[in-house]
Amino acid sequence: MKAMFPDDDLARTREIAERLQPILDEMGERTTVQLYQGQPFPVVISSMLSARTREENTEMAMNRLFALADTPQAMSQLKYEDVLEAIKMVQYPGNKAQYVIDTSSLIAQQGSVPQTLEELMALPGIGWKSAVLILWLGFGLAPEICVDVHVARIGIRLGLVKPTTKQPQKVSRELMAKIPEDLWGPWNPMMVNFGRTICLRVRPKCPTCPINDLCPKIGVQDVRT
Ligand code: SF4
Repeated sequence: MKAMFPDDDLARTREIAERLQPILDEMGERTTVQLYQGQPFPVVISSMLSARTREENTEMAMNRLFALADTPQAMSQLKYEDVLEAIKMVQYPGNKAQYVIDTSSLIAQQGSVPQTLEELMALPGIGWKSAVLILWLGFGLAPEICVDVHVARIGIRLGLVKPTTKQPQKVSRELMAKIPEDLWGPWNPMMVNFGRTICLRVRPKCPTCPINDLCPKIGVQDVRT
């Protein structure tokens, strides 16, 4: 009898990506940070603003902020009150307004957005998750897999991550062992968009899921039809 899932996780995750990406492209799903792919400075700022913030609010804040200043030099010279007013719809606007100014100032001094995890994580308001995402969306570099709540949740459901693994960098390491290296970068945006539309946090759409036959549905108890 044919196994339900290929034994080889690398082959299974490649098949998952090959099925999902065209469907998500067709749906037009994009995170706000993805809108700036290939533009390192807006990727840094949108990644910072997007933390714990709804996509529509991140997008609005980006539009308002970049209408005031669109280079690191110009943004570093904005008044705190003006940045705060521009981004007031994101979570933690007070902290983020200061991060925007301080990070812009450092990037202006350095001359460009840095291209290593260590240097990015030294910028105010940039943690490991943002740094990994910035490397991919800003520069096309993927030394690790960026893990957020969608990537972690779906990784468990797909049987790629142990349900007991909580720490994002450990989740990333478990995923990297089972996902082909050329998919490490696109895996995060793909899973974020998949998690927002099909593999929902509550009652995922398993019956109509395009990778249903490739998924052991670990921990899924209730689905929507
Ligand atoms: S089958 Fe269900 S749990 Fe598995 S990936 Fe699809 S929606 Fe998620």
